[in-house]
Amino acid sequence: MEKSSLNPEFENITENLKVIRERIAKASLASGRDENAVDLMAVTKTIDSARINYALSQGVDLIGENRVQEFMSKINELDMSSCKAHLIGHLQSNKAKKIVGEVDVIQSVDTVSIAREIAKHALSREIEQKVLLEVNIGCEWSKFGFDISEVPERAAEIAEISGIKVKGLMCVAPICDDKTELLHIFENMHKLFIDICNKKMDNINMEILSMGMSGDYETAILAGANLVRVGSAIFGPRIYSDKH
Ligand SMILES: *Cc1c(COP(=O)(O)O)cnc(C)c1O
Repeated sequence: MEKSSLNPEFENITENLKVIRERIAKASLASGRDENAVDLMAVTKTIDSARINYALSQGVDLIGENRVQEFMSKINELDMSSCKAHLIGHLQSNKAKKIVGEVDVIQSVDTVSIAREIAKHALSREIEQKVLLEVNIGCEWSKFGFDISEVPERAAEIAEISGIKVKGLMCVAPICDDKTELLHIFENMHKLFIDICNKKMDNINMEILSMGMSGDYETAILAGANLVRVGSAIFGPRIYSDKH
């Protein structure tokens, strides 16, 4: 690992994390919760291992990756001794075998069939894979996730599958300058989360409400998020390869 003090990019990571943690604590308190009520995930897609390792050395204890291939190619270079990883991007069924058991939570379960595929591989590895259900909160450009209205029914269906454990919900919000509208969207997600929680379904533990990214994490926390997924606000703008 490079000496951090020599690299100005690494210095930014330290400063960014400090600011974000302060804002998260403030928003948590403003939402009527403890200042430590919200977990920060560092979203590491497109970020190289040296920079991720630096963030890990600064106390980051949860990372999120979008693509199975990218995750598998970096994971052995990372010091994960006190850090967990989640998959947060759409999972294709032919990649399920590779990722099951390699991440603590798969946040992006968006069909019953991918849930079954994940469960199949979990059973063959004799583990239980924790998952979140991805909810499509009605933005045209987001192709993935269950419609809000079908979530309770699908959650019940997925809860019956052995090998998989539903731990909560996640969503990606539309890009929206109107903070009031955004807050309303996040509040609907929180209501759905509470509704399912109150149904006390077997094999469903509504523990994680994953919403909020670099541009909207404070708004999401005010609405009740307890896990925010922050990438560019920590690492700076992403530089995509030509694959994108
Ligand atoms: C990229 C990504 C994020 C982080 O986005 P930023 O705006 O950089 O914070 C969060 N969640 C998902 C699902 C993502 O794909």
